[in-house]
Amino acid sequence: PRDEATRRARIEALRHEAKEVLPERVAAIADRLGMRYGRVTIRASRSKWASCSARNDLSLSVFMMLLPEHLRDFVIVHELCHTVHKNHSREFHALVDSLVGGREKELTRELRRHSTYDL
Ligand SMILES: [Zn+2]
Repeated sequence: PRDEATRRARIEALRHEAKEVLPERVAAIADRLGMRYGRVTIRASRSKWASCSARNDLSLSVFMMLLPEHLRDFVIVHELCHTVHKNHSREFHALVDSLVGGREKELTRELRRHSTYDL
């Protein structure tokens, strides 16, 4: 159906944009925070915005491009903090919070108003 073709074309456009924007953004933020990571992979993932592997490789959803820039950055900071803590422990959240000016809860609430299914 035509709608399906349009949706696919829009995802491919997002993928193109994501590949241009996200790896550079990760590099800039990691550099600013003094964090190291492995590879960055861009996937058309709907199940989550992003993830960090045991080897500190980051997988980012193309649908992150639907987010406003500050939430995109928040997702990146969250994943980079998983290079330090491989869990969602109190220490993990304290680290994230300290890197986003004490706004982790607020940003998390804001992020919940968005969905990878918005496209
Ligand atoms: Zn996480």
